[in-house]
Amino acid sequence: MKYYDKLIFDLSKEGRQGFSLPVRNWSAGLDEIPAVLRREDAPALPQVSELDVVRHYTNLSQMNFGVDSGFYPLGSCTMKYNPKINEEIASHPGFACLHPLQPAVTVQGALKVYSELARSLSEITGMAEFTLNPFAGAHGELTGLMIIRQYHISRGDLKRTRIIVPDSAHGTNPASAAVCGLEIVQVKSKENGLVDVEDLKPLLDDTIAGIMMTNPNTLGLFEKDIKEIAALVHQCGGLLYYDGANMNPLIGKVRPGDMGFDVLHLNLHKSFSTPHGGGGPGSGPVGVAPHLVKHLPYPRVVELEDGTLDVVNEKGESCGRISGFMGNFGVILRAYTYILMLGKQNVRMVGPLAVLGANYIKESLKDCFKLPIDSVCKHEFVFDGLADQSTGVTTLDVAKRLLDYGFHAPTIYFPLLFHQAIMIEPTETESKETLDGFIEIMKHIAKEAAEDPESMKTAPHTTPVRRLDETTAARQPILKYKDII
Ligand SMILES: *Cc1c(COP(=O)(O)O)cnc(C)c1O
Repeated sequence: MKYYDKLIFDLSKEGRQGFSLPVRNWSAGLDEIPAVLRREDAPALPQVSELDVVRHYTNLSQMNFGVDSGFYPLGSCTMKYNPKINEEIASHPGFACLHPLQPAVTVQGALKVYSELARSLSEITGMAEFTLNPFAGAHGELTGLMIIRQYHISRGDLKRTRIIVPDSAHGTNPASAAVCGLEIVQVKSKENGLVDVEDLKPLLDDTIAGIMMTNPNTLGLFEKDIKEIAALVHQCGGLLYYDGANMNPLIGKVRPGDMGFDVLHLNLHKSFSTPHGGGGPGSGPVGVAPHLVKHLPYPRVVELEDGTLDVVNEKGESCGRISGFMGNFGVILRAYTYILMLGKQNVRMVGPLAVLGANYIKESLKDCFKLPIDSVCKHEFVFDGLADQSTGVTTLDVAKRLLDYGFHAPTIYFPLLFHQAIMIEPTETESKETLDGFIEIMKHIAKEAAEDPESMKTAPHTTPVRRLDETTAARQPILKYKDII
């Protein structure tokens, strides 16, 4: 154990402090505070110098892995660079000090950011209008499904309580549908990883509220039959929901609105460069086609005749209220900054670069790793473990060994369609040199697996915490520092 791995309490030395204030009688006036509210003893704070504190937190920050410290090939996640100008804009006091209950006349700038981001997203996706109120991708899914339900209910079409979800879908899709009170009907994928249209056809009847699709799907493949699927679902009276959490490979190339989707959500914390992970804050804006605009949740931003913006706080024909106010404004600001920073020209390069990077890694590594679906991918792809599986080295071992070389592990054992799934997504913000470095290490690991499989089983060797027994770690977690030493 290194000296600075100690808790800050262990660095404490009686009487040491990082500040000096003039001596005063601080207890004067204390009796104005009722006795029950007064503490009897001083708080047990560590007594340390400023230098101790700086070193302690700097060292703690380096025990973790983040997008600012290294490459993060996490499939289904789009861990892209978070431009620092986003932070500068979001911390501007004119934005950071706003209160959600301020009268609309005093927050015209913020409302303009809200409506302009909604307009940019509409243009990028081909939808008519957006709400930015949902707080996450899954929250956007729930909102979108509530809109679909509201649409059917408003037409008196009350039988439509079932929703079709492909077996390759992200787990949040069926979960959101269940929360929305819909019954989930699964549609199968074919060998090539795409939705099986023949399996879909018999499912379509007058109880179907719609279908949830991800395109490119969770295997990173473009659903080529989307036009036919859209026509079939619309013919039976259902609507099409688009899970656009990972929209980046399509940005600038194809628009879900043009594919026939009626409702979609985006993850600003994936595709639009805002920070991501650790549970939030996220943002899952929902866009709709013209016939669903009236069912968007409230509150909504509207433009009055004189050009000023106002907030409408009435239910009307909306699907209801889905968040306290109007979403995670700090995240909305960051995504807005990102889009403006790129400009129209560069926004068009996002998709092609995401696709190029993923295909480059896939082609470079397919001799060392098993590629179950060998076709052009979009922003991500899936290997099914090492090409040579006779060594006993598993996907988990490969992921752990990568940590020793300073890379974050890819997504593993997801999607569930393959037993040794390794899902890799480079994202478009990485340089060719970084991708080459990653490819070289992955090849090296494949070689190590053949030559020294035993040492792979004990990896990682250089991280602050070594390999955990995952079952014990989940069932009997050691959460207290003192239990470790
Ligand atoms: C991440 C993701 C989601 C869920 O988004 P959250 O913000 O984590 O709720 C849904 N669908 C897909 C395809 C995703 O990758």
